[in-house]
Amino acid sequence: VIVHGGAAPSSGEEWIVQRDAVARAAWAAWETLAANGSALDAVVSAVALLEDDPSLNAGTGSVLTRDGHVEMDAAVMDGRDLAVGAVAGLRRVKNPVRLARSVMGSEHVLLSGAGAEAFAVESGVALCDPASLVVPRERERHARWLEERAAGGRPRAGPADTVGAVAIDRGGNVAAAGSTGGTPGKRSGRIGDCPIPGAGLWADNRAGGAAATGEGEALLRTGASRSAVLALAEAAAQDAAWMTIRALEDRVGGRGGVIVISRDGSIGFAFNTPRMPVAYMDGELARPFVGGGGAGS
Ligand code: ASP
Repeated sequence: VIVHGGAAPSSGEEWIVQRDAVARAAWAAWETLAANGSALDAVVSAVALLEDDPSLNAGTGSVLTRDGHVEMDAAVMDGRDLAVGAVAGLRRVKNPVRLARSVMGSEHVLLSGAGAEAFAVESGVALCDPASLVVPRERERHARWLEERAAGGRPRAGPADTVGAVAIDRGGNVAAAGSTGGTPGKRSGRIGDCPIPGAGLWADNRAGGAAATGEGEALLRTGASRSAVLALAEAAAQDAAWMTIRALEDRVGGRGGVIVISRDGSIGFAFNTPRMPVAYMDGELARPFVGGGGAGS
């Protein structure tokens, strides 16, 4: 299993906290896999744990839209049958990835906004107070964003600390999941790559799985996660990760990162931002490997 905590350029202090968070999430997913749990359960448990961590931009701790709201996107994909469950524009759900998992069991792939929240109530996922998802760091970031704009600047919506996970289980089943508050200062109603199959995530037992993070518009335009998985037909996981990020940069000038697992269980990750906290765990490690502190892989 491999887990990421987004490709945002975070401060030194945040970095330490986020490294711990991804290590804990990789371990939690690993425990699920080691107990013969499915890849799907493993990625959902890892992402839900990171949604509850206020240091990351997903669930509690999400960034704010330009009008000051949390609006979250999440998705999960099952490589056995290419099933996808996705949600977008949620304001009142503590763990969007769990709701995405419920959508996967419905007749739809992607639900958004009020309809998605109505589906949450129907499927027994309690709605939360939107204020409970907002942390002081994001209030401050939002205030700075507004100030910069008022001063005539055009703050670029850069990568944030989105979370994602990819896993393969003993049966060779691959799954991927991701969750995000999106990009800081986004317009209300904007949907990024995270809940869009092919862009934010992809999983196919015949090849492998991937989850992307970074500038959602660029990841959408390059179909980043599906590109990474398609590249596994000819490349090792690490090379596939690099090729994806190079295409992101060369074709559309995008910034971001991707994590990849091939169907033979090899792992890769790459990013073109200063950092991307990553942790992975496999049968040969005693505890999660943690990296992503620089140099792109
Ligand atoms: N990809 C996310 C989005 O655009 C943000 C991120 O990964 O940092 O919504």
